[in-house]
Amino acid sequence: MTEAVQFAWTEHMAGRRVVYYPAEEGNRVRPHSPEHWSPVERLPRRRLEEIQLERLKTLVRYVNKSSPFYARLWAEAGVTPDTVKTLDDLRKFPIVKKEDFERDQRATPPFGTAFTVPPHEQMKLWQTSGTAGAPRLWAETKEDWENGMYLYARSLYGHGIRPGWRAYFAFGYPPFIGFWLCHYAAEMMGCQVVPKGPLPTQPWLGMMKRLAGTAPAFLCATPTYAQRQIEVAGQIAIDAKALGVKIISLAGEPGACVPATKSALEQAWGAKVHDIMGSTETSGPLFFTCKTQSDLVQPSDHANVDYFIMEVLNKETREPVPEGESGTLCVTALGRTGIPAVRFLLNDYVRLSWENCDCGRTLPLLRGGMSARTDDMLIVKGVNVYPSLIENLVRAVPGLDTEYLLVRQNGEVLVKIEAQPQVAAGDYPGLAKRVQQDIRSATTLTLPVEILPPGSLPRSETKSKRVE
Ligand SMILES: [Zn+2]
Repeated sequence: MTEAVQFAWTEHMAGRRVVYYPAEEGNRVRPHSPEHWSPVERLPRRRLEEIQLERLKTLVRYVNKSSPFYARLWAEAGVTPDTVKTLDDLRKFPIVKKEDFERDQRATPPFGTAFTVPPHEQMKLWQTSGTAGAPRLWAETKEDWENGMYLYARSLYGHGIRPGWRAYFAFGYPPFIGFWLCHYAAEMMGCQVVPKGPLPTQPWLGMMKRLAGTAPAFLCATPTYAQRQIEVAGQIAIDAKALGVKIISLAGEPGACVPATKSALEQAWGAKVHDIMGSTETSGPLFFTCKTQSDLVQPSDHANVDYFIMEVLNKETREPVPEGESGTLCVTALGRTGIPAVRFLLNDYVRLSWENCDCGRTLPLLRGGMSARTDDMLIVKGVNVYPSLIENLVRAVPGLDTEYLLVRQNGEVLVKIEAQPQVAAGDYPGLAKRVQQDIRSATTLTLPVEILPPGSLPRSETKSKRVE
C-alpha cells in the first residue's frame, strides 16, 4: 500500500487492504480540483493500463489462494497467477456467469465457495433481486465498500454534484444493493442524505416541497420511479420543477441514455439527468455520465477502467471485437475481493472507445450508454428489438403515458401502452396506429399495439417489468 494515498477509513476500521493502490489516487475523500474528484480520471491510457495490470496480478494471486471456487475453476483451465504477464493474458482465464454462482450456492448452501473470507466477517450481505433466476447471496468487505464509495464519489462529482448538496434517495432500502453504495458515497462527500425508505410517494413529495430551496439538491432514483414521482406530483398539484432538484442520478435501468426518457425527466423536474451503472456481482459504478455528456441528446458514459477491466466480446465466439465495435461486456472487478468477479459476463451489449471528452477525463466512453441489455433483447422474425427503442418511440407520441409492456406471444410481440387521462377512449385506435407506424419505420416490423386506459399496467418503485 502506498502512504501517499489517503483513505476514507483508517486501517483500524477497514482491516489490512488487499488491493494495489497507486500514489496518483492521492486523497480519496476530497475533490482534487474544481472539475475532477481524482487525478486518476485524467491519466494517460498507458498509465491506466499499468494500474490495471498491477491490480490484476495482485487480485489473481489473492483469489487463487483464498477462493475455493476460483482455485478449482482455474486449476481445471490450467491457469495460475503466473499466467498473468500482460493484460491480454486475462483471456486465458475462464469466463464466469451468474449461473455458475447459482450452481455453486445450490451445491454448497447457503453461501457457496466463491467467498475469499468467511461471509460473517464481511461488512455487507445482500440477496440479489432475482429479476432473472434464483436469488443469490452476495457480500462486500469493508475494503470493497470503501472502493465503491470512492468510485461513486468520483461519478457523482462528475455529474456536477458538490459537497454540501442535499441528496434525496427515493428508494426503499431493499436487501439488494440498489442505491446503498451511492448513499454512503454521498455522506462521505459531505452531502446531506434524505432517505425515502418506505414512505409513500405523496408524503415524500410533501417533504421535498417543505425543504425546497433550502439547499442545492440532487435526486437518486430508478428512471421508472423518477417518472412515477412526476405522475403523483401532478395529482396533488405539486410542480416537480419547484422542488429544487438540480441533478438526477439514475440507476437500475437505462435512463439518461434513452433520449426520450432523458428529455421527459429533464423537462418535468427542471434538472439535468445522468446515469450511473453497476451490478451486484461487480459492484461499484462501472459507468457514469459527466456534465459534458449530459448536455448531449444522446450521452455516452465514462468507464471507471482503473477499477474494472472491461472486455467487449463477440456474443458467439467470445473473442474480443475491434475497439469501438459492439459486443457483450465481460468485467473483471479489480477493487473487490469479498466475492471476486474475474471475467464475469454481464450480458450487456456495449460499445467502448478511447476518445477525448471535453470534460478532460481520459476514461474511455461507453458510446450511447448502456441502452441495450442483451437479456432484455427480443428477436422478432429475425430482427433485434430492444425495449429502450420502443420506449423512445412511445415517449415521443403525445397522449401516451410512460408505462408500457412488451408481451411475447406465438413468436410475435404485443405492445401494450397506457394513454394519458385526458385522451378519450375513441382516440385509442388512432394512437395505436401511430405507434405501429413508428415501430415499423424504426424496425421494419409490424407489431400489434394495444392502448389501455390509465392505471392498467402495474407500477413499481424499483425496476419496471418491460417484457413479459
Ligand atoms: Zn466527459
